[in-house]
Amino acid sequence: MTHRVTLIPGDGVGPEVSAAARRCVEATDVQIEWDVQEIGSSRQAAGDSPLPVTALESIRERGVALKGPITTQVAAGARSANLELRDSLDLYVGIRPCRTLPGAPTPFPDTDIVVVRMLNEDLYAGIELGPATPEAQRLRELIGESQRRALATDAAFALKPISYAAARRVADRAFSYARENARNRVTAIHKATVMPLTDGLFLEAARAASERWPEIGYEEVLVDTACHQLIRNPGGYDVLLAPMLYGDVVSDLGAAMIGGLGLAPGANLGDRCAVFEPVHGSVPKRAGRNQANPIAMVLSAAMLLRHLAEEEAAARLEGAVAGVLREGRTLTYDLARASGISSPATTSELAEAVVARL
Ligand code: NAD
Repeated sequence: MTHRVTLIPGDGVGPEVSAAARRCVEATDVQIEWDVQEIGSSRQAAGDSPLPVTALESIRERGVALKGPITTQVAAGARSANLELRDSLDLYVGIRPCRTLPGAPTPFPDTDIVVVRMLNEDLYAGIELGPATPEAQRLRELIGESQRRALATDAAFALKPISYAAARRVADRAFSYARENARNRVTAIHKATVMPLTDGLFLEAARAASERWPEIGYEEVLVDTACHQLIRNPGGYDVLLAPMLYGDVVSDLGAAMIGGLGLAPGANLGDRCAVFEPVHGSVPKRAGRNQANPIAMVLSAAMLLRHLAEEEAAARLEGAVAGVLREGRTLTYDLARASGISSPATTSELAEAVVARL
């Protein structure tokens, strides 16, 4: 069977790690017809929208995409193309496994967690008011009247919406992921001690979901405590369920624990579409140099293969990556330094080492 998949090379090192991942997937002999769609800076440079309709239509039609990282234009003031993509396709849950592979240079060899996070709402909703705007002034007046508190006239504001329905569907996915992947426990991460209404609602939804899956353990932990405990006792957590911001921070922490962002894959899922992409960004300073580590992208592609029910090929691909790491000879700069290798491999050399093992 031939699978139809949208391929988004992305910005910065994206095209290089995407090409590497495509090469590795093709070496598994799974038949894929790729529809390559540009989004991000390359479209903007051509005077287009960074998120063209044709790219969205391609993903909607195929239901699945492999995506490289996109650079966020901070100065432009526009909403991130990544966030727009997730909203447009209703990708509401992010899955970020952080498991140390044997051979990865890290003092945390026992790390094996999965961060399941909201992909909408929370502080990433993108609703912000600058200090000198009429909207900010109206907000100051509203808060002054209703809460009897004076907000600073030079303060900017960001809104943190968390709805029960959005939290509940992410929580349900965390528990179903745990059951499907033989995981035992879901830990909800929060700061309800200082945000009892927003994070409190998140916890309410998580508790309700936990009652649906009594065979999976459930607990709650403050986000700061979770970060502390992860370093002190890396084996102490299993599935971590989080709103968007905490999930972003904790998954980067998890990535550092397994050997770096170059090793951390991810998936953004909705009910109709699935987009697989590494946790890392576009690493602009390495762009076009054939230096970036392609493993996070290759492991994201393995997650994609599993989603396509190509279980055996996914396992072979992951095994080939693990073999290259265990051998410890063909490593890109980010891993080479820690492994004491003086001449790092290039992106394509690492990909070829994976292909050779396939
Ligand atoms: P980044 O992940 O691009 O880089 C952070 C550091 O991690 C790099 O300096 C590098 O040392 C290391 N690193 C990351 N990936 C690596 C790889 N594959 N190989 C080797 N080393 C790697 O994060 P940043 O610098 O904060 O962000 C750069 C741009 O990427 C920003 O515009 C940001 O908004 C964007 N971004 C996009 C996504 C996405 O598209 N999903 C995710 C995160 C960041």
